[in-house]
Amino acid sequence: MYNSPNNNSPILRRSNFNTSSQGQTTTINKPIAQNTGSSPKPEIAKGPIIPELIPLDPSKKVQVIPIGGLCEIGKNTWIIRCDDKMIIIDAGLAFPSEDMHGVDLVLPELTYLIENKDKILGMFITHGHEDHIGGVANMLKSVNIPIIYGPPLAIGLLEGKLKEHGLLQKTVFKRTKPRETIQIGSFALTFVRNNHSIPDSFSLVIQTPAGLIVHSGDFKFDHTPVDGELFDIAALAEAGAKGVQLLISDSTNAEKAGFTPSERAVFPKIEETFAKANKRIIITTFASQVHRIKQILEIAQKYGRKVAILGRSMLNIALVSRQLGYMNFPDGLLIRSEEAMNYPMQKVCILTTGSQGEPLSALTRIANGSHKQVSIIPGDTVIVSATPIPGNERSVAATINALFARGAEVVYGRDSGVHVSGHCSQEEQKIMLNLVRPKYFMPAHGEYRMLVRHGKLAEEVCAMPTENIFIMENGDVLELTTETCAVVGEVPAGIIMIDNSREGTIEKSVIQDRAKLSSDGIINIVITLDQNKIIAGPDILFKGCIFGDAQQQQEITNKIKAEILKANDLKAAEKSLEKFVKAEFEALKQNPIVQILLMEVN
Ligand SMILES: [Zn+2]
Repeated sequence: MYNSPNNNSPILRRSNFNTSSQGQTTTINKPIAQNTGSSPKPEIAKGPIIPELIPLDPSKKVQVIPIGGLCEIGKNTWIIRCDDKMIIIDAGLAFPSEDMHGVDLVLPELTYLIENKDKILGMFITHGHEDHIGGVANMLKSVNIPIIYGPPLAIGLLEGKLKEHGLLQKTVFKRTKPRETIQIGSFALTFVRNNHSIPDSFSLVIQTPAGLIVHSGDFKFDHTPVDGELFDIAALAEAGAKGVQLLISDSTNAEKAGFTPSERAVFPKIEETFAKANKRIIITTFASQVHRIKQILEIAQKYGRKVAILGRSMLNIALVSRQLGYMNFPDGLLIRSEEAMNYPMQKVCILTTGSQGEPLSALTRIANGSHKQVSIIPGDTVIVSATPIPGNERSVAATINALFARGAEVVYGRDSGVHVSGHCSQEEQKIMLNLVRPKYFMPAHGEYRMLVRHGKLAEEVCAMPTENIFIMENGDVLELTTETCAVVGEVPAGIIMIDNSREGTIEKSVIQDRAKLSSDGIINIVITLDQNKIIAGPDILFKGCIFGDAQQQQEITNKIKAEILKANDLKAAEKSLEKFVKAEFEALKQNPIVQILLMEVN
């Protein structure tokens, strides 16, 4: 039922220019990414795409407040406020950096939202990536969001997440269509279809009393998109013609010259690899790279290979995408991972998470030989259809090393042709600037240097004065009127660190302790007391401390013991004892954590 007859047809569906097709995305049971086969008739939309709903009011101040997503790639979370009402755009998560020991996820601090929780009108989702929807569940635990608007795939994925957390009843969902405009308070938001690595991705044109704001969302310009859904450039141009006060735009690839190739560009290289492989093929990409997964499944089918999907997130996204009509593959194509080893080697493709070298992912475990069902057989082909997110380079490299060491052929790297980015490069960033022609510009979705580079492009392309370009940090408050734009203050915008295994947050002090433990070690001193008299111990344990030799360790142990025995009242002397031990180790140029445990009998 999900198959359409000509899904591989290069004919593109022109729904962006055809207002009558909008209704197709309202019900989730209808196939959406279908090509009709008959040549679609391009129609020019009648009337304006962006209906003028919000009159300009020079007395109004509109604030744009990112609490995540600037100076980083991740946890995109925006607040737009006018008077005493605000809307939220996206609520994402970030993955931890290598120094966050034991942290699974990072979320934005919600202090500002919690303090203003009675002002929240609703949330708008641009697309279904984790760095845009992964923070919604946590947010719903802290504040009430009366309604969440978003495209069907993003809402479908989000519903699954909220169901897992038992939060489905906490809000109401409204699935939006391309070019649909939602009026809410003194805002009106139009969903403008764009291209990205996941279907159903949108830019937002936001009408406010201070003028138009265009929020690009994550985008690239892909003129041969895998799902045939073209970027609604006309809507952007219309916004530009009306006059845009502020453009907020994707800076991910601001360091890359030229154009990002079409998603379709990876198809030939992946297919070529399939054609050549005579043992198993293991292929990894981002779990949420729906377009890529769709292409891989099509190629696998063509080459008569069954596909085992490893990684719960990837399987879930594939199944939801299929259910909602964004992918179609026959029932028999997928096999369970336990079956993968029983098929002839030329008949199997394993599609797996772990493209970022995540320690617990299936690919990392396969590479390390610790995966329960799948192990590398020399001659297997591994395709890494992704590039490392900044910060993950070392772990990705380690995984690739381990795969080679087990005898796999690994196809990877920027020049391999098996990956393209879902984000715009410089030339596309210029097109966005040129179409929208904003008065003010805020580069977003990038590390600091990327924001700066993107700002420089705006100076070049639009001859935009430097003072109209805002390189901001999370928590900065940008205030817009019909005439002016300025940073007027800041709100709290720290981070919350989450440990999945405990379903709880981790305090910053814990991370500091963990960092200290890993670099300096710990000394445990255990003493059992009865009426302030030592009846057992002191037992002194060194973990991760370094001594010149055994004799030096013995000398220090004796010194600490003598110091302990000198004390009349150990409880009172605890602090000075800690100081004494620290001083001993300072002499050894070490700074371990000192933990004294006084155990009282009775
Ligand atoms: Zn994205």
